[in-house]
Amino acid sequence: MNKNVLYRSIPKVDILLGEKQIQEMIERYSRDTVMEAIHEEMEKLRAYIGRCEEEEKAKAQIDALTDNICIAVEAMHTPNMRTVINGTGTILHTNLGRAPISPEHMRHIAEIATGYSNLEYNLEAGKRGERYSHFEKLLCKITGAEAAMAVNNNAASVMLILSSLAKGGEVVVSRGELVEIGGKFRIPDVMEQSGASLVEVGTTNKTHYDDYENAITEETKALLKVHTSNYRIVGFTEHVEIDELIPLAKEHDIPVIEDLGSGVLIDLAKYGLTHEPTVQESIAKGADVVCFSGDKLLGGPQAGIIIGKKKYIDMMKKNQLTRALRIDKFTAATLEVVLMEYLSEEKAIENIPVLRMITASLEDVSRKAKNLARILRRGELEAKIQVVPCESQIGGGSLPLERIPSQAVAIQPTRISVPELEECMRHLPVPVIPRTVNDMILLDVRTIEERQFKVIASQLKSLLSEN
Ligand SMILES: *Cc1c(COP(=O)(O)O)cnc(C)c1O
Repeated sequence: MNKNVLYRSIPKVDILLGEKQIQEMIERYSRDTVMEAIHEEMEKLRAYIGRCEEEEKAKAQIDALTDNICIAVEAMHTPNMRTVINGTGTILHTNLGRAPISPEHMRHIAEIATGYSNLEYNLEAGKRGERYSHFEKLLCKITGAEAAMAVNNNAASVMLILSSLAKGGEVVVSRGELVEIGGKFRIPDVMEQSGASLVEVGTTNKTHYDDYENAITEETKALLKVHTSNYRIVGFTEHVEIDELIPLAKEHDIPVIEDLGSGVLIDLAKYGLTHEPTVQESIAKGADVVCFSGDKLLGGPQAGIIIGKKKYIDMMKKNQLTRALRIDKFTAATLEVVLMEYLSEEKAIENIPVLRMITASLEDVSRKAKNLARILRRGELEAKIQVVPCESQIGGGSLPLERIPSQAVAIQPTRISVPELEECMRHLPVPVIPRTVNDMILLDVRTIEERQFKVIASQLKSLLSEN
């Protein structure tokens, strides 16, 4: 094989630019991006020829140059972040974007975001307004708190609260509540960033009232409770409830802060799940400041919601750090419409996707699973399709032990292996992320919307078709 001959047979840039396909790319996109792709693909081709052992393969690659340039240009203009279908059954899947927002809510947000809005403009007074005003009253009404605000996420809430109320002082927290919230972020480290120093009391499994009492000094600025939402310490345990800490804090004139993490606004026990302490309960028990995530069990946008006594919320609104942590118009608009659903619990369950998925009955998911299986069988795939029982989980560090009985469509490919199929499914135009167990691909229908069934079916047909 004469490599020099091969190198010389690569079309020159001028020739490529004259080709119809390339011309079309230039017209649709730009000459600059097409030129960039031409240079990159030619570079790759030369490298390929350099290491290629077979002349036929090298020639085929040279013939594919124009196509590869076009593919590269298209890829440059295709967003990398896209919708995926969640077949894992994990409802608040942090890697898959946690809480989905309903299309109805998104229509409102699209309208707000594509134009100007009264984000920080008071239409009554005709002057500057506050971005929290759109949802503060709603939050107070739903939770019983005096005042409310929101920041970028709940980790930011913890930081802002401590910076506003305890900078330069001490905060007492139980050793049993020093949680890592995922992605290697640890509550103690976040707290240190605020300028407050942590005073850890008790042991991992037991913390007593006396431990808090003995830790309070002149320097103590607050008592902190962290809801251990993403793990449970079971067995020989003891912890101090917030109601017991309130009188102790009052005595020393310091606030009690509670980081609830998940921030559930309805009693999940009513729907057959384990009771998760609600935001309302925390406020009713007398917590001075409570914070929680917007995109966990609340089912809204990524945000850190902070509610509580007005004097403390005002201190936070004035903190310079708030400017760095503030929410944008997308979040403000989304929070308002999602929270509005909570004015009626029935509507919240019906219209907030996360709550709808959590509370969907076994009959609902069975019907959905049968339906998806029927649609898939119609495609005559090279696979065995059946409906099997499975268990969904909440995820996102919420209710870690909870398993919700669910139904999945199981796919057992006959021509390719399960790992191969799983990989192919990730590379589909609308990637499908399944759960794999043993020799089956499972699609838990609890986290799949019915409107996605047709897309799944046509894509799987392309992967597992008999012809
Ligand atoms: C999840 C969680 C956080 C962090 O919330 P984000 O909104 O993900 O930043 C903080 N504290 C607790 C207890 C949590 O469970």
